[in-house]
Amino acid sequence: MYTIARVSFLLSCPNCGTREVTDFGYGGEVTARPASRPDRRELNAYNYFRRNVAGVQREWWFHRSGCRAWFIAERDTTTNEVKFTALPGARDDPQTPEASKAPGEGVVT
Ligand SMILES: [Zn+2]
Repeated sequence: MYTIARVSFLLSCPNCGTREVTDFGYGGEVTARPASRPDRRELNAYNYFRRNVAGVQREWWFHRSGCRAWFIAERDTTTNEVKFTALPGARDDPQTPEASKAPGEGVVT
């Protein structure tokens, strides 16, 4: 018989609000796409290499049991503390370039 260590934490969907992490699917680290014509080495790094930081990282999450939206979260991988969640391109995401922000999206009222 195996003992499975379950790690549970709360995650806030930008559409639905706070839910157990079991409501969501993990989509991996947010990575930068390579240049328009990547060579084999760049493509290999993009597909297979991850930073896997011990600390805060940006991640893709999917609200599997809810609105089925993909969103971005910043999570501390050592504590599972979620610092921030937002839909991609949201205004309140400091890493969204001004030019690509969708009007009104992600605004906290
Ligand atoms: Zn949702």
